[in-house]
Amino acid sequence: MTVARILADKGRNVVTTEPHRTLGEVAELLANRNIGAVVITESPGRVLGILSERDIVRVVGRRGAGVLSDPVAKHMTQDVVTIAEDEAVSAIMEMMTNRRFRHLPIVRDGKLSGIVSIGDLVKYRLAEMEHEHNAMREYIATA
Ligand code: AMP
Repeated sequence: MTVARILADKGRNVVTTEPHRTLGEVAELLANRNIGAVVITESPGRVLGILSERDIVRVVGRRGAGVLSDPVAKHMTQDVVTIAEDEAVSAIMEMMTNRRFRHLPIVRDGKLSGIVSIGDLVKYRLAEMEHEHNAMREYIATA
């Protein structure tokens, strides 16, 4: 099963922001959209960085709330790991676990085309397990 299957269900919308926006604005965006990370892009869809709630908590914890007026470009992770749509779900689960992040933007032809979070993967995996469970029950019942 590939990432394309998850995108077909959840859609391709990605919440993005621009590098000059402040950390405070991004915190507000994360809260309003009820998400954990935002992709920083420049048009048209080129990924410049990613900033998650963890980055905000870390820098505010270390340096205080004054950093909320800093541009997001100063605190984002620039070396973004992205994936292609034909990547296997099992491989990206392993990647997230090993590298300890919870968001993976998807890039197609050099442009942002979706995002998967660890929450999306857990949801997908639970549905898959339920499906396997039901298939097994049916098999046993009809054997
Ligand atoms: P997260 O677990 O996604 O909240 O992110 C934990 C840390 O990894 C933060 O510093 C993020 O900026 C960074 N991060 C999250 N997703 C990615 C990614 N796909 N590529 C590189 N860094 C990431």
